[in-house]
Amino acid sequence: MFTDIYSPLQQLKHPLLREFWMKRDDLIDPYISGNKWRKLKYLLSKAFKENKHHLITFGGAYSNHLLATAAAASRAGLKSSAFVRGEEVENEMLMLCRIFGMHLVFTDRTSYKDKTQLFQQHFGDDPNAFFIDEGGASAEAVQGCAEIIAELPEDVDHLFCAAGTGTTAAGLLKGILERGLKTTLHVVPALKGGSFIEEEIFNYLGNTDQLVLHTAYHFGGYAKTQPALIDFIKNFVSSQGILIDPVYTAKMLYAIEDLSTKDYFKPQEKIVALHTGGLLGILGMKEKFKP
Ligand SMILES: *Cc1c(COP(=O)(O)O)cnc(C)c1O
Repeated sequence: MFTDIYSPLQQLKHPLLREFWMKRDDLIDPYISGNKWRKLKYLLSKAFKENKHHLITFGGAYSNHLLATAAAASRAGLKSSAFVRGEEVENEMLMLCRIFGMHLVFTDRTSYKDKTQLFQQHFGDDPNAFFIDEGGASAEAVQGCAEIIAELPEDVDHLFCAAGTGTTAAGLLKGILERGLKTTLHVVPALKGGSFIEEEIFNYLGNTDQLVLHTAYHFGGYAKTQPALIDFIKNFVSSQGILIDPVYTAKMLYAIEDLSTKDYFKPQEKIVALHTGGLLGILGMKEKFKP
């Protein structure tokens, strides 16, 4: 049903770091992007096992998860619907969701809070309806992300990822622990007050010994930026030739850059940054990139 995942490991140029690599999960698929594909993989097989043909999910108007679900559903021959948080808007992301056949239900912020009730109210009578939480957060998603570790060399000293819900990070740490690797997982929350992510990961795994959380790189909060981050993105993209998204991967890479200037790493240490994709997120920030 799906093509195999192909995600290369690519070396980056860096004046201070000799062994600096990027795991290019952004190349898995342009629409079922990066970690969203990893997170959906086992949810889709669960839907198939339960004979459910209609995926129901939730997200904001610029959610990478909505588009990933819409594209994955159509490729698997399933229907998809989504509750979109907030008043009705139009943008490139939602347009693509619709083209992939997703039915969108705009939902005010108060009703949006109770996802189970929304699901029951609108789809309670549909025996085909399959609930997928916002961002795909689930044990299945953790499992899918754990598989990334099997695709990496075993001697990685520092693995970096960005976090929204922390599900991807939980999967990565699960993979590290299962394989008994010495890798430290560094998690950079894209939102303010991201320390809850440690608890989130602990809830999944019962262990966060090899986790380091870097909560100082949110740049004002989720989907917020500052001129320093925009400049960093322009520099990174033009010098490496790899596009990054301003919401997640840019903040994670900025953290690595900042830590490297503070001599956080030893010169020979192997650092891998996970590019979680989500490149269409940049379309929501067109104004910020004006000359
Ligand atoms: C959704 C998303 C994340 C966050 O993943 P979580 O599992 O929610 O922490 C990171 N990067 C990109 C590009 C995303 O789209």
